[in-house]
This record gives sequence, C-alpha cells and structure tokens, in this order.
Amino acid sequence: MPIFAHPEFDQHEQVVFCHDQATGLKAIVAIHDTRLGPALGGCRVWPYADEQQALNDVLRLSRGMTYKSALAGLPLGGGKAVIIADPRKDKTPELFQAMGAFVDRLGGRYITAADSGTGVTEMAQIRQRTRHVVGAGEREAFGGGLRTGDPSPSTALGVFIGLREAVRQRLGGRDLNGLKVAIQGVGQVGFDLARQLHAAGAELWVSDIDAGNLQRARDQLGAQVVSQDAIHGLDVDVFSPCALGAVINDQTLQVLRTPVIAGAANNQLARPGHAEELWRRGQLHAPDYAINAGGVIDVAYEYSGGSPEQVRLHVEGIGETLRQIFQRAEAEGRNTTAIADSLALERLNAA
Ligand code: NAD
Repeated sequence: MPIFAHPEFDQHEQVVFCHDQATGLKAIVAIHDTRLGPALGGCRVWPYADEQQALNDVLRLSRGMTYKSALAGLPLGGGKAVIIADPRKDKTPELFQAMGAFVDRLGGRYITAADSGTGVTEMAQIRQRTRHVVGAGEREAFGGGLRTGDPSPSTALGVFIGLREAVRQRLGGRDLNGLKVAIQGVGQVGFDLARQLHAAGAELWVSDIDAGNLQRARDQLGAQVVSQDAIHGLDVDVFSPCALGAVINDQTLQVLRTPVIAGAANNQLARPGHAEELWRRGQLHAPDYAINAGGVIDVAYEYSGGSPEQVRLHVEGIGETLRQIFQRAEAEGRNTTAIADSLALERLNAA
C-alpha cells in the first residue's frame, strides 16, 4: 500500500496509523496541511472492507478539510481520522478513550470532531483523554439557552445564507418569498434549513428515507412529500441536496434542471467534470465545501473560545464568500468549483 505515491496523497504532512491491542482500535489520522493552523477534521467510524479503502477515505477527506477551512477564513488546517469498525456494534467507551490518547500524542497538531458514526457521546469519551476535541459538551445557542455540541444549526444557517445568495445571483435578485425549493434529506441540517426557508415564505418539496422526518416536515412546514427518485426532476427553482454525496451524477443530470443547486451534503458531484457540465448548462452550483462550512466554523470557535454572536457573524460570511465565487466565475468564465479551489489555494499559499 503506497503512501507517498498514493493518488490521494497530495503533499500530506503526516499520516499516522494507530493500533491499540486492548480495545482492538485500528485507526488512521491524516494531517494534510497546517500552514494556516492546527488540522481540524472529523473522526469517522466505518466498517471499511480493507485498509486501502480506509486510507483512500482519510486522505481524500483531510485534504478537503484544508480547502474548507481556508475558504471559510479560519486559522485551521485540514485533517481527518477514520476508525475501522462497525458503528452499529463495535463502539465502546474504551475504544474512543484509546482514540483520545492517540489524538493527544499529536500534541494539538490534529483536533478531532464528530463525523459519520460519531457524535456528542463519542467526543465526550475522547475528551476523557485529550483536550484536542470539539463537539463534546454543551454550547450556548444562537439567541440564548444551551444546545449540544452538535454544529448542525450553524451548518443549516450557512446553507440558508448561501442558498439565498445563489438565488439572488442566478434569479435576478429575487427574494425567498414564493421560491420553490426541493430538499433531499430533512435530517438535522435539512430540516433546520427547511424551517428557515418556510419562515421566509418558500414553498417546499422534500424526500427522505425516514418516515418520521418526512412527517415532521409535512406537519410543521406544510412541505410536499415526494419519492426519493422524483426529488431531482421537479420543476422548481432550487435543488438542495442535504442527505448524501455524489447526488449530482450522470443519471440525475438527465432530469435535474433547477437554475440553482445549493445544499449541505458533502461531495455532491460524482465526478469533477460535473462542475463544468452544470456551469455550461447555466445551473448555478454552490460548491459544497463553501456553503456547508458553518459546522467547522462553529467548532473552531468552540476550540478557540468565542461567543454565539461571533459564530453567527462568521457563518453569515459564507454569503460573501459565495458572492465572490459566483462573481469571479462569471468574470473568468470558469465553473464555481474551479473558482472555489483557486480562492482556497490563494489563501493557503499566502499563509
Ligand atoms: P442527518 O443524518 O441528520 O440527515 C440526513 C437525512 O437524509 C436523514 O433524514 C436521512 O434519513 C436522509 N436520507 C438518507 N438517505 C437518503 C436518500 N437516499 N434520499 C433522501 N433522504 C435520505 O445528517 P445531517 O447532519 O443533516 O447532514 C446532512 C448532510 O450534510 C450530510 O451529507 C453531511 O455530511 C453534510 N454535512 C453536515 C454537517 C453538519 O453539521 N451536520 C456539516 C457539513 C456537512
């Protein structure tokens, strides 16, 4: 298994393989780039078929965090951790305490956070062994009161602001009242986004695989429920992917005609070439790692210390970042993902 010659290696600073015999922990931590600050990124638990798959994933994801934090204007680099285990049956407090000990040995070069297969509970277990972890405790909520360390409300706020900016840009300054939006996935982020869009007067169509989440959107927000297959092909203004990656692919592009695509899901494009295809077709795509940065902004302030108001202001800055991306894309005739990559690289190279 080559590391330095790995196709996803891309100048990683450090890749650490962790094994703890007592708990059976097998994990990989990848630190891609710390030029802007310590590498922050989630800890994913996944039953990878083999180590090669785990390595591919951790390298790809940690590089993505470098770009996301740089574009969000955070003093953070990119990193990621994967634990090779089944989140449905292998998770124990001891496993995450052992993970915490490994994170601690990196001395703050890597800060861990929740990801697929982990949440507030696991972060609290990691915190028993290291302070280089976020999303473990309670936070002050926007507007007062307490909430858990889960950053989804900030992610949803950033997506709402970014979607509004994309609509302004592509639909001639139009506001959200009466806007037609199709949301794929009304879980933590998707539902909170739907709530904000509903409050702004938008009409909603939703799909999900969870009947309870669909019912909540229908009962509380008057959303129209459509099937999983129908959600991409609706005649609406905005498609908002908030469930899965790779939803923009050769199949969905045959029916996806919305002028705006803006949602929370990570890695929305199945292939890099799809960014260019959307651009050529006149469909404005908000690059996922620009629009969904609210979560990383939230946990960055948790780590460094900051008020909910500071978090809110920084998250609202996602609108300005997207405005720059859209305007530069127009001026340079390049697709929005290419521009977002250029902006992130410029910030990294200036560090
Ligand atoms: P979540 O698990 O709470 O919600 C996802 C929802 O999508 C669930 O309701 C699930 O049932 C639904 N879903 C799954 N498969 C589906 C399908 N085929 N069709 C329709 N719906 C389907 O997750 P979340 O925290 O709301 O995150 C949503 C997306 O945003 C994920 O891709 C995540 O990686 C990304 N994201 C989340 C955050 C965050 O702060 N939570 C930050 C950045 C990116």
